[in-house]
Amino acid sequence: MSTTPFFIHRIQKLHQRLETFKSETMLVTSLPQLQYLSGFTGSNGIGIVLRSGAILVTDYRYASQARDQAKGWDVVITTGDLIDELKKKKILRSGMRVAFDENTLVYSRFAKLRQNFPGVKFIPVGMVIEEIAAVKDDDEISKIRKATEISDKVFAEILSFLKPGVREADIAAEITYRQRRYGADGDAFDTIIASGVRSALPHGKASAKLLENGDLVTIDFGCTVSGYVSDITRTVIIGKAKPEAKKIYAIVLEAQQRAIDAVRAGVKARAVDGVARAIIQKKGYGKYFRHSLGHGIGLMVHEQPRLARQSRAILEPGNVVTVEPGIYIPGFGGVRIEDDVVVTGGYCTILTTSPKELFIL
Ligand code: ZN
Ligand code: ZN
Repeated sequence: MSTTPFFIHRIQKLHQRLETFKSETMLVTSLPQLQYLSGFTGSNGIGIVLRSGAILVTDYRYASQARDQAKGWDVVITTGDLIDELKKKKILRSGMRVAFDENTLVYSRFAKLRQNFPGVKFIPVGMVIEEIAAVKDDDEISKIRKATEISDKVFAEILSFLKPGVREADIAAEITYRQRRYGADGDAFDTIIASGVRSALPHGKASAKLLENGDLVTIDFGCTVSGYVSDITRTVIIGKAKPEAKKIYAIVLEAQQRAIDAVRAGVKARAVDGVARAIIQKKGYGKYFRHSLGHGIGLMVHEQPRLARQSRAILEPGNVVTVEPGIYIPGFGGVRIEDDVVVTGGYCTILTTSPKELFIL
């Protein structure tokens, strides 16, 4: 077994956290978490991080890929079920205290683990890996930056595409196509195109609705580059803007900019949420902003830290978070503006650079 895994520092941090749970072994079943710790990007695998070394169990389709990617990991290949292989190779043994993330381990797999390893104590340790992954290194930030650059380029291009009579789903298809053409692996999530009264749905997936004159159109999309995501939202108006649409746009923009100004290391995540929320509340639209202000992004679209009222996180240099206030008025429409920012000791670095002045197209 190699003694210098590529991501040794991540594994060391994991061991530090596992000490709290008196465990030296962690079972990693979430694929983004497995990629984070090992570099492996296949669609089937289980990682076992041991006190000395780490083992990746995957199937024969990924034999050479796993050996290439999971530097420093022992790779075990099977043609059968991964948990059966753990048993066959005696990787988990009676008396071990094996940590796992109860938020990502599927129940049927957990049941099978318990059945196969009656002598092992399985210990739910929550989001320990997600918490380590919340602080990004320069390489991770540069991947997120590449993803945001692609999304920014595509946003500039699709503006000319937005006009009355165009189907929401066609705009989404255009975004997917162009992001891939610019080198993205794919969309980071199902693109949200919500126009007219649908823009009051914070998560209105692109539908067969046609854009109409006077519509607010919320466009929320992103792509992945080497697994790392971008996540950006802009809202535009088609044709003639109703006065209230302009008004709520200005409020959301102010809330978003002031919240971005508040993002820096050492600040409570919930305080940043509070900055945006206070502005929207003061203008009388508090009840129309019901979701949290933002979330971490990385290998997943929703990660730690959350910028939310309930969040206990304190921002740290290397956190990458979205800042995305919105106002959604049922029966009228909504506005959301979202950027991706990197937390630093001073003012944060804004990765998404698409313009935020109101486009009336
Ligand atoms: Zn988004
Ligand atoms: Zn988001």
